[in-house]
Amino acid sequence: MKLLFTIDQYVIAESLEEAYELNQSRRNVILGGIMWLKMGKKRIGKAIDLSALDLHKIEEDEDCFYIGAMCTLRDLEVHPGLKKYFNGIIEKSVESIVGVQFRNGATVGGTVFSRFGFSDVLTVLLALDTYVELYKGGIVSLSDFMDMPRDNDILVKIIIKKDNRKAAYVNQRKSATDLPILACAVSNVGNTWNIVLGSRPAKAQLISLRLSESLNEEQINEIINVVEDKIVLGSNDRGSKEYRSILADVFIRRNIEEILLGGNHED
Ligand SMILES: Cc1cc2nc3c(=O)[nH]c(=O)nc-3n(C[C@H](O)[C@H](O)[C@H](O)COP(=O)(O)OP(=O)(O)OC[C@H]3O[C@@H](n4cnc5c(N)ncnc54)[C@H](O)[C@@H]3O)c2cc1C
Repeated sequence: MKLLFTIDQYVIAESLEEAYELNQSRRNVILGGIMWLKMGKKRIGKAIDLSALDLHKIEEDEDCFYIGAMCTLRDLEVHPGLKKYFNGIIEKSVESIVGVQFRNGATVGGTVFSRFGFSDVLTVLLALDTYVELYKGGIVSLSDFMDMPRDNDILVKIIIKKDNRKAAYVNQRKSATDLPILACAVSNVGNTWNIVLGSRPAKAQLISLRLSESLNEEQINEIINVVEDKIVLGSNDRGSKEYRSILADVFIRRNIEEILLGGNHED
């Protein structure tokens, strides 16, 4: 019985063009941190390593963060600039993912390109003004990318705009490092409120509403009703649709309160 993936040939790509050309064959695969790939049993022709392409950097200027595809989740977690921004929700989005050793391996490219339905990271990135730079496809918003069919392009970097939005994130898990039962991120910039539900158990979905910067109880209820109406929740072995619906109500309210209070929510 075959238990592991196998690789016929390992190639360190010398350019993105070379990596892209190799990736057009269905037997070949781009390697991120291989944490997900190694759980499968695929027989890979050429394994394409991007680590010589200078994609390990997190850079920032006045307007944006630029995060290379080969940055690890741990790089996101400990980066001083990212920690300061958006109420620290990027750090919060990765801190429950398995353990530090794992997060030192798993990459931003593998995480974002895979568009996993259970992703904490995508739930949070969708609540921010995030873009994906694809080698052939150019720069597209993360919310458009979430709906694009999977192809053989290469994710080069993600870009997060520093627009001073306030943000908050909560999730529920059966145990500390399990996959989330539900993930919920909320952000606010000016009059716009962005609500994202992830691990529904389908891929994260964003709803944006224009209301006012400070919300009253009636407006918070309105947000919850719109989300209930537009975002479909489901059941799996981690939780029922009904349970997720109760969590969604509580989490949206908690995140909004945290943003309105300008600090961390006290349980
Ligand atoms: C046991 C386990 C538990 C997990 N728990 C959680 C969790 O609780 N919350 C959460 O949010 N996530 C979780 N994850 C997902 C994890 O955080 C990573 O998203 C996942 O491991 C993929 O990242 P990677 O670097 O390992 O990608 P890889 O395994 O190397 O690659 C995954 C896929 O992405 C493709 N790929 C990689 N890089 C690129 C690129 N630059 N361009 C195009 N395609 C690319 C690969 O070809 C492959 O198809 C878990 C994963 C595992 C294995």
